[in-house]
Amino acid sequence: MTESLVHSVNWNIDYKVNLGRAWSRFLVSLRDDRVILGTTCGSCDKTYVPPQAYCEACYEPMDAWVEVPPTGTLEAATIAQHAFQGGPPAPYAIGAIALDGTDTLFIHLISGIDLSDQENARTLLRRGTRVRAVWSQERTGSIRDIDHFAPVG
Ligand SMILES: [Zn+2]
Repeated sequence: MTESLVHSVNWNIDYKVNLGRAWSRFLVSLRDDRVILGTTCGSCDKTYVPPQAYCEACYEPMDAWVEVPPTGTLEAATIAQHAFQGGPPAPYAIGAIALDGTDTLFIHLISGIDLSDQENARTLLRRGTRVRAVWSQERTGSIRDIDHFAPVG
């Protein structure tokens, strides 16, 4: 059996990235209007959130923008037990959300759940739970302009 080595690694790199037209328009809309935008493919009719410049299914350019409601259905979720630099303190929940009227899953934080109550957390984080976006008080043009999604109903 080959020995498996483990090294400690610390990445702390400051850099800037151009977000491009689709992500920039998406984030400006979150910041200025509290509106979630997606793009719809004119060929296969799929709607993407976050928006994509090209359809991943048929590779067609997409320039049809649609407003998407801030509600959706939880398709999957997990509870993170370790914090990451720049992220929320652990434990926290992450969900894959099918926003209403879209064909993709939007990954975001799920809050408003007492994670210390495991039975309650399991119930609220199961597939099919309806969720709604909760907006940040201060919006800066980032994905965290939606602070989190919370269960509704
Ligand atoms: Zn398409």
